Amino acid sequence: MTIAVYPGAFDPFTNGHLDIAARAAGLFEKVIIAVYDRPDKNLLFTTDERVNLARQSVAGIPNIEVQSYSGLTVNFARRIGAKTLVRGLRIGADFEGEFEMALMNKKLAPDCELVCLMASLEYQFISSSLLKEVAWLGGRIDELVPEPVAIALKERLLASRKTV
Ligand code: ADP
Repeated sequence: MTIAVYPGAFDPFTNGHLDIAARAAGLFEKVIIAVYDRPDKNLLFTTDERVNLARQSVAGIPNIEVQSYSGLTVNFARRIGAKTLVRGLRIGADFEGEFEMALMNKKLAPDCELVCLMASLEYQFISSSLLKEVAWLGGRIDELVPEPVAIALKERLLASRKTV
């Protein structure tokens, strides 16, 4: 079976992530969305929350699974028998970082290939960080994220406002 890993922070999962995952699911027999489990105080959602939101967002696509992982992405890929990593590329924002990471991963795991899918035009401007900022400032983010994410974001921001 051809398995691909789509790794990321997914804090939270957006329609841009969904687009990449769904397109990868058309290319590989199985796609594992791999959510980084690392302590980072800048993340809005916990690892379990990020996993659950991604899981709810891809519930309609049978060959996509969501798991969390820690440590090197290439080691996680090796553990689950995946030889391909998938990443999304937006204009300008992503290329250099992805290229650098790909070269390092190639050094660490020469048998692992990277497949980059170009972000679709309508999702080029969506990033998790920008939409958190827009949501925080009261902007409408409903069309930019899957419904469970929109609900979770609103609840989280409401809760954090109460503690400010
Ligand atoms: P990371 O910290 O690994 O970049 P992200 O959750 O920000 O984690 O992104 C995970 C992957 O999804 C990356 O390959 C990123 O380039 C890609 N991505 C993020 N937003 C979009 C988008 N709007 N369209 C397509 N790909 C995206």
